[in-house]
Amino acid sequence: MTRDQYTLTDPTTLYEANEPQAQELDGPGTDAEMTPAADLGEQTYRGTGRLKGRKALITGGDSGIGGATAIAFAREGADVAISYLPEEEEDAQRIAGLIREAGTSAYTFPGDLTDAAFCKSLVADAVEALGGLDILVNNAGKQQFNEDLTTLSDEQFDATFKTNVYALFYITKAALPHLKPGSTIINSTSVQAYSPAAILVDYASTKATINTFTKALAQQLAPKGIRVNAVAPGPVWTPLQPAGGQPQEKLKDFGDESPIGRAGQPAELAPAYVFLASPESSYVAGETLNVNGGMPTP
Ligand code: NAD
Ligand code: MG
Repeated sequence: MTRDQYTLTDPTTLYEANEPQAQELDGPGTDAEMTPAADLGEQTYRGTGRLKGRKALITGGDSGIGGATAIAFAREGADVAISYLPEEEEDAQRIAGLIREAGTSAYTFPGDLTDAAFCKSLVADAVEALGGLDILVNNAGKQQFNEDLTTLSDEQFDATFKTNVYALFYITKAALPHLKPGSTIINSTSVQAYSPAAILVDYASTKATINTFTKALAQQLAPKGIRVNAVAPGPVWTPLQPAGGQPQEKLKDFGDESPIGRAGQPAELAPAYVFLASPESSYVAGETLNVNGGMPTP
C-alpha cells in the first residue's frame, strides 16, 4: 500500500466494504483474533516529528484505537508506555514492537484498571520508565451490550463504571503532579455520550460522564498550561465490538449508518489524538473532537 494520511483519498472508498461475520471474542478480545483484521496504520501512518521527545502513557494501548494511537505517537517521535489486561499480552507485544521499530522506547504494563491500586502504581511505574510524563491518554474502555435493564447485572454496571470512569479519575489524579505546562490529557469518550443506543445504557452513561469530566477538568487545568480534551469515536472496527460490545448479528452492518457509509478503522482515529497531544492544538481545551463518519453532534 502506498497511501498514507497525506494522500488525497475518497473517504467512502478508502477501505473495502467490511462485512464481518459473527465472531464471539472472549474477555476484552484481541486484534490478533479479529476477522477481518483492523487497520491500525501499521503500513500507512507517516510521522513528521510532531511529538519528538515526548513521553506518553496510553491505557488500552494494545489494540484498536489505543494501539493505532501508540503507533502514531511513536512515529511522531514519542516514547510510549501502554497498559492492557494480562490476556492481551500478544497484542501488547506487537504494538511494543511497532513502537520500537519507529525508533522510540516502548514500555508495557499489564494489569486490571478496575483495581484502584493498579491505576496508581501504573502511573508511578510509567513515569519511572519514561523518565517523566507529558501526554496521558485515558483510552481503555469496557462495553457490553444489554437489551433489558432488569437483566443488567449490578456487577456489569459496576465494572463498566470502574473501567471507564473511576480508572480515568485515579490515573489522572496520580498523573497530575508529574505534568508540566504544555502537557496534555486526552480521554476517549464516544458518540454514545449524546446519541445513546438502547442496548448500551451503562456504557453510554460512562461516556457522557467522561465528556463532562473532560470539560470540567479543562477549566481547572488550562490556567496551569495543561490542556484536557476528548476524542469521541463513532463506530470503529476494534475488538471491543465483537467481544460483546454489539450483538453478533449487528456486526455485518456495523457503522453503515454513518454518512460516510462504513465503520471507521483505528488508523483514522490516531491523527485526532496526535493533534490534541501536540502543540498544534495549543488553543484547544475542553473540546471533544468527534471522529464518527459524519454523524451530527451537539
Ligand atoms: P479495544 O478493545 O481495542 O480497546 C479497549 C482496551 O481497554 C482494551 O484493549 C483493554 O486493554 C482495555 N481494558 C478494558 N478493560 C480493562 C481493564 N479492566 N483493565 C485494563 N484495561 C482494560 O477497543 P477500542 O474500540 O479501541 O476502545 C478504545 C476506546 O474507544 C474505549 O474507551 C472505547 O469505549 C472507545 N470507543 C470505541 C468505539 C468503537 O466503535 N470501537 C466507539 C466509541 C468509543
Ligand atoms: Mg485490547
